[in-house]
Amino acid sequence: MKSLALACLLASSLYITPSEAKTKAVASFSILGNLVAEIGGNRIEVTTIVGPGADAHVYEPKPTDAQAMAKADVVFVNGLGFEGFQERLIEASGFKKHLVVASRGITALETSNPQDTHNADDHSHEHDHGVIDPHAWHDIGNAKTYIANIADGLCKEDADGCDTFKSNAQDYVARLDQLDSEIKIALSSIPADQRIVITSHDAFAYLGRAYNIRFLAPEGASTESEASAKDVVSIIRQIRTEKARALFVENIADPRLLEQIASETALQIGGELFSDALSSESGPAPTYLDLMRHNTTLLAKAMVGS
Ligand SMILES: [Zn+2]
Repeated sequence: MKSLALACLLASSLYITPSEAKTKAVASFSILGNLVAEIGGNRIEVTTIVGPGADAHVYEPKPTDAQAMAKADVVFVNGLGFEGFQERLIEASGFKKHLVVASRGITALETSNPQDTHNADDHSHEHDHGVIDPHAWHDIGNAKTYIANIADGLCKEDADGCDTFKSNAQDYVARLDQLDSEIKIALSSIPADQRIVITSHDAFAYLGRAYNIRFLAPEGASTESEASAKDVVSIIRQIRTEKARALFVENIADPRLLEQIASETALQIGGELFSDALSSESGPAPTYLDLMRHNTTLLAKAMVGS
């Protein structure tokens, strides 16, 4: 009995000590959670608020989220207005420690989607005069800024780990560069007039700017306001006049609107893009690198198609 008690004590102290020493990080959504985990490695514990497949624009925080925030040493958010729930959650949790805005320093795009500017009479007042587009992670150049901000944020929490974080960041940036070259090669043979596709919400402007692809969407840069009948008519007209190549459903959005547009325009659905969240572990986009590879491979296939 004695040795069993001792073994339990040893096992529990072995179990508890390293986890207590780890920096407790919270990330607001799954894509950011993956980036934070890549840089923090085994020196941190990451909790993600909005998980794989979920929509951060309309997320309602749960009591467990406030508990995770209350225990956190450092919280990472995208910023640019992406996390509508952020202020409420910070208030509910009493979190007063270190908040890192991962997009700090990037050049933000304003959404040019008319759906964001003609909803003046509905509840989305922030859409009246053009909106900052929060989906900056879809540009690999911006992802490098996210990585630098994450490494800086972790260094402030854990000075002993700073060399590790910086070296992890350097390795990760090399993988981003490699992926960027792969994507450029995959898209290089696609003529300019074939680089037009439709998605359900306007989430891919940064990807479009980086790789010269035009994305049209019936819904604006936030999923908060639904596409109106007028939006749908206007996108169908655009599909016909601008000869869009394919429609893509999104992992965080109801596919029915896109299916309806597909049937009215005889345009094919090119697959499912991962816009604002990762897939589950067993899906095609469990990490940021997988997500970017998956999305751009699907896009290239649809735009090449005859
Ligand atoms: Zn979005």
